[in-house]
Amino acid sequence: MAIMITEDCINCGACEPECPNTAIYEGGAEWKLGDKTFGLEDAAPSGATGFAKADFFYIVPDKCTECVGFHDEPQCAAVCPVDCCVQDPNNVESKEQLLAKKDYLDSLGR
Ligand code: SF4
Ligand code: SF4
Repeated sequence: MAIMITEDCINCGACEPECPNTAIYEGGAEWKLGDKTFGLEDAAPSGATGFAKADFFYIVPDKCTECVGFHDEPQCAAVCPVDCCVQDPNNVESKEQLLAKKDYLDSLGR
């Protein structure tokens, strides 16, 4: 399961440097997967859309492994001062799927 950021985000930026997958971006910013850049209107390879349009920090579901492969717990949730990094019910994945995603991100350079 990927983690998502709710509208309770206060845009403090504490989570972004903690993400081992560079899955966290500032609201309105373009995001990258490997050498490809995605705009706000672009769908991710998984088909996910809309996550980049918020005016607060967001997580790219295609890049979030819930920190599986790096840490015992989601680092964004661990540092967030307002507890707005939560499980994303629209992106439910098993640990095996999350590990496969990590390998995929490894191959792309994230
Ligand atoms: S759970 Fe881990 S991989 Fe996912 S966005 Fe948070 S810090 Fe990044
Ligand atoms: S740490 Fe929490 S409040 Fe701060 S930018 Fe990240 S999600 Fe938003």
